[in-house]
Parts: sequence; C-alpha cells; structure tokens
Amino acid sequence: MQDVYSICLMCTVRCPIKVMVDNDDVKLIEGNPHDPGIQGSICPKGAAGVCLLNDQERVKKPLIRTGPRGSGQWREASWEEALDYVAAKLREIKDKYGARGIAYTERSQLNSHISKTFMRALGSPNYFSHDSCCKGSLNTAFRSLTGYTDANVGVDIGKAKHIILFGRNYFESIELKAVKQLTNALENGTKLTYIDPRVTVTATKADKYLMIRPGTDLALSYALMNVIINEELYDKEYVRHWVLGFEELKQFVGKYTPQWAEQQTGIAAHEIISLARQASAVKPAVIFHYGYRSAHYTNEIYVRRALIMLNALMGSIEAPGGIFFKKGAGAVGKKPLNKLIGQVLPEINEVRCDGAGTAKLPTPDPAHGVVQMLPRAILEEDPYPVKGLIVWRHDPLLSIPDYENNKRAFDKLDFIVTIDIHFSETAWYSDVILPESIYLERGDSIQENAGLKPSLYLRKPAVTPRYDTKPGWEIMKGLADRLDIGQYFPYHSLDDLWHYQLQGTGLTLEDFAAKGFVSLCDEPIYWNREDGLKFKTPSGKIEFVSSLLEENGYPSFPEYESVQPPAEGYFRLMIGRNVAHTHVSTQNNPLLHELMPENLLWINTEKAGYLGIKNGQMVKVSSSRGQETIRAHVTDLIHPEAVFMVHGFGRKVKAQTRCYNKGASDTLLQENISDNIGGSPALQHVHVKVQAVG
Ligand code: SF4
Repeated sequence: MQDVYSICLMCTVRCPIKVMVDNDDVKLIEGNPHDPGIQGSICPKGAAGVCLLNDQERVKKPLIRTGPRGSGQWREASWEEALDYVAAKLREIKDKYGARGIAYTERSQLNSHISKTFMRALGSPNYFSHDSCCKGSLNTAFRSLTGYTDANVGVDIGKAKHIILFGRNYFESIELKAVKQLTNALENGTKLTYIDPRVTVTATKADKYLMIRPGTDLALSYALMNVIINEELYDKEYVRHWVLGFEELKQFVGKYTPQWAEQQTGIAAHEIISLARQASAVKPAVIFHYGYRSAHYTNEIYVRRALIMLNALMGSIEAPGGIFFKKGAGAVGKKPLNKLIGQVLPEINEVRCDGAGTAKLPTPDPAHGVVQMLPRAILEEDPYPVKGLIVWRHDPLLSIPDYENNKRAFDKLDFIVTIDIHFSETAWYSDVILPESIYLERGDSIQENAGLKPSLYLRKPAVTPRYDTKPGWEIMKGLADRLDIGQYFPYHSLDDLWHYQLQGTGLTLEDFAAKGFVSLCDEPIYWNREDGLKFKTPSGKIEFVSSLLEENGYPSFPEYESVQPPAEGYFRLMIGRNVAHTHVSTQNNPLLHELMPENLLWINTEKAGYLGIKNGQMVKVSSSRGQETIRAHVTDLIHPEAVFMVHGFGRKVKAQTRCYNKGASDTLLQENISDNIGGSPALQHVHVKVQAVG
C-alpha cells in the first residue's frame, strides 16, 4: 500500500488528503495526518471520492453531439478530432463576432490562472467564475469597506470568545478545518449564537438560537448597532483610529431601536439588547460572521456590510479571535508562486457582456463577472452577440436561477463546449464534452493557501486515469495551441507546470514529498492594530461611508424597507446545503446518493396542517417560473413564512441514473433577480405556492 498526499476536490474547500493506493487502485481516502488543522479527518463527501474512480456514469471519452441539444445523442471522438473540432468552432465565432463573442465560465479552481490567461490571450473580456452566484455581494461589501475582497479575509475561530452566525451553517455546509476549530472552541467555552429561520444542525450546537423572520437580517443588524452605539459598547480607540463615517452611522441607526427590530424580525427586543451586550463584553475576540454563501436577497450587500461593520465596532478586524486578513508568501519575505496570468498578455479594450465594470453594474467585481447576467446578455445580444460558451467544472444551466430561461439563452448559442468529469446538466446540453480526469487521477496547479500562516499544497495524481480522459490544464493547452495562442502556455507536462510556478521561490517539488505541503511560517501573522492595518480604501480606513458606493450613486446606509409576508398559501423559498452533498456536483455519487437520495421540502407544522399536508406526502411547489414535485418534511423547526429545500436536486439528465428525477430543483423555481449593487442573485426572493398532491 502506498500513501499519496494530495488535495480533495469533492467540494471547493480543498482539504489536504492522504490517498491509500494499492495496485493502481484507491483503497481509502483520509485527511492528511500531517496537517495540524486536519489531523486525519475527512467528511462524508471527501471519503466518497473513492466512488468516482470506477463510476460507469462518468464521461469516458470525448463526445460530439449528433442529435438535437439535450437529446443525449453523441458520437465518440478521439482527442485529436475533438480538440480540432472545438478549436474550429471557436475560430468560426471569433472570425464572425470577434473574440468577445466567446464567453467562458468556471467554478474558481487551482487552474483559474490558466483559464484567465486563455481568455486574455484569445481577446475576450468575458471570463466568468461562479462566484457572483455564491458570494458576489459579500465580495463587494468587503471591497466597499476595506478595499479587499472576501477571499482575502478569514475568521480566527480558535481564539474567539463569542461567535455570532447569521445562517452560516458550519456543521452542514462544511469547511473541515473550521468545523474542527469550532468544535474545539465550543468545548473550551466559546459562546455560539445562531440566527436563522430554520433550526439547522449548527443551531442545535449553539448556546442561543434565535429564529428570525426570513429576509430581515438587516433589521437585526441595524438594531444591534443601535444598542452598541447608544450604550457606548464599541471599541472607541479602534473606531477613532480606523473607521471613516462613524458619526454618520450613529445618526443613521438612531431610529432603529430593538423594539422596532422586534416588529420586523420577530426576535424579542430584550434578546437583541442581550446579544449586543454579551458580544461587546468579550470584544475584540468576537466574530459577527459575515457569511459564506451570500446570495439571498436584493439588499444582500447591505446585509453583509452591516455584519462587517459590527466587527469593526467590536475592533475585531485583525484581532486574535476576530476577522483577519490572509497573508501570503510575500508576508514572510518569500516570492509568491508564478501564475500564467502574470505574463505580459494582450490588453482587452472591450466592455464585458454582463455589464460588470460599466455604468450598468459599476460596483460588482469585474474580475469574476456577474454570471447570472449572462443569459440576458445572450438573449438580448446586448451589448453585442455572444455566440460561444466554454464551460469548465461549472454547471451554469443548473446554478443560475430560472432553468428554463437559461435553456432559452443556451439555444441562441452557436456552440457550447464543456470540460467536466460527469454529465452535468450543462454538459448534457453542450455540443462537445471534453472529459476531465478526476482529482485522484490528475495533478493541478500548486495551491497557495494564504492565511494567518501561509502554506503551499500539491494535488498529485494518485492513480492512472480509468477512461480516455485528460487533466483540464492539458485540454486548455491543446485548445490554445490550435488557436495560435499556445505561446502563453509554456508547459508540456505537469512537472513543467509545477516548475514554472515554483521558479524563483527557492522551493522544489522535493519540499512537498514528506507531507504533501510546505508551511511558510510557524507563527500566525497579524498586522499591528495600533498603526499597521493596511486597508486598501482611498481613505486607508474602514469606510462605513463608502467611496466605492457613494461615487457610483449608492447610499452607504439605505433606509430599511419592511419585508412583506407571503400571500396566503405562499411561502418564501429558502435553499441551503447538507453535509452529504456539494452544490450540484455530487447527487449522482453512489455513496452520497445512498446517504441522501432526494431533497425534502421543510414546511412548518401549523401551515402544513392548514393546507392538509402530512409528513412524507408529495407536494406540488409552484412559482412564476415553474413547478416541481417533492416530498414534504413537516416540522416545527422552520419559520411559518418559509419553506426550505437543499439545493442541487431534481436532475433532468437521464444518463445520471441514480439522481435522475429525484427531489426538486430550486433553480427551476427561482427568478433571476439580483442585488445589482453587490452582484449576487437573490436566490431566496421567490415566493412559492405549496399544495398537497393526491
Ligand atoms: S470539506 Fe470534505 S469534501 Fe470538502 S474538501 Fe474537505 S474533505 Fe473534501
């Protein structure tokens, strides 16, 4: 038996793993025992990675469509033929519509520097990541306050004395290291307050659970700020030194009293006052968690800003036990890894098709784009026609709200090519599928883990590929060569790619051999809170009054708009995650399917009784966009105004036999409505009607 140290890819957290291999077969996957934050642990999804390897329902060879889109009629092709075919189609579109007529979308990954380079070299501004659908508004909120994106920030759970989670469901929407830290912290006396319209597993671990009316988080945050400022509980020295716009905030929140918030949120005023006092008593070792996935409501950016501002009032930004800025190799005097995107590349002077970075969407991050705007841009050909789509490890058809509208947009495309390991909904609706080797069969670009202690990790192939598949970095290189942009991809093998990245860093591959990673320092790095905080805002401070927002005509503190309850028989559709599945990517995994074969519709007991719905009964859920059937889970543990389902079910691809037609698709029910200031879609905006079936 051989141990191979690598990186998990059953979700995007990318935990370090140990893969136990015998005779070119994976026997077991565990967490990397050498990593102090992991110590051998693995989550169910990580352990189930072993099933991917020999799964007969993977895409096994390059496929070219022969029947209508979505019909499942394909012919197998050699790699040579498939890559030639894709390159010819892309070249055709480029010649007719310009390079901007080609868009690209992916889930951010270790090879994103390769895909970004591909699009730059091709000459198209239309690179998208899935990020806007997940945390676009959080990104904008952080940039508006600190000048950094959310990706530059982490939470110091281990040293926190009180953690307040607004729906951040750590124990089901797992980041393994954070779960271990939180478990240890709770055992050592850290207080946990959990706020959510639904009693999640995380709620059951909390010292205090507060059931909030769905959509009213901003009202609660305003009231918490009101108490903290009125009672002078904030960190005065920190605020004086590092905050711009405190007086304006003080004026603004004066009217948002706990008594007012009680009417909005359903949380008693005395609970709000008590939370503000308890959190402040242990400042700065307190975390008002700013959220993980942050795509719920049209006011999302202000919900996230308010949470970050609460941390600033506590003085907990860059304090042990608070929020920290991630430090990379540069912070310890080392050269960062080389990335292809760091080369001198052609400049692009075209506007993005989604409008990010233009007057249409001036504040969302153009580096990631606003991917839920892509269907509209394609359908309306505004500002220009987009006719080609490259998709790598992303399922936009199923991830962007309003499934049927996404299909209509895809129907207007001349060409879609998907690089994936399995038949995602998008792959199935493509013209060509280029099958990628799974993470156990391939290596990828080296991972730079910025944090309090920066480190580097390596994903190494543990076994040889089972089918006629290739790593994505090799596929992109093959396409680049055929499109005459191969000079920007100076590698021929995985070793070449790794050596390119390590050049000048003083490190070699040998340094990774013993443990699978390299630690760049031993002690956590914090900036000096007295005079060493390095905010990247124009003022150099945390901008409560935000230049980013105000210069683009948006208020820093918008007045609260009351949330209206749904009409009789209707509910707000909430979505979320579960420990057994990752977004839309694991529903067909044999082990995980066995753990959780379908999603259920959580509905409040009293409301269900009124509608004549019994536990376990099938119900029809309909919205302005579509209709789905799903089994009801009747429970007291959800707010009466909401129903809830886990995201990613209700699959329509027959080739994925295990998950085909199991449960309901939230995407099919959602409207594609966004927080246009922050950039996230409002995934919990839609109201649905629920009726008993039969
Ligand atoms: S949280 Fe689980 S699935 Fe995600 S990377 Fe870690 S082990 Fe893998």
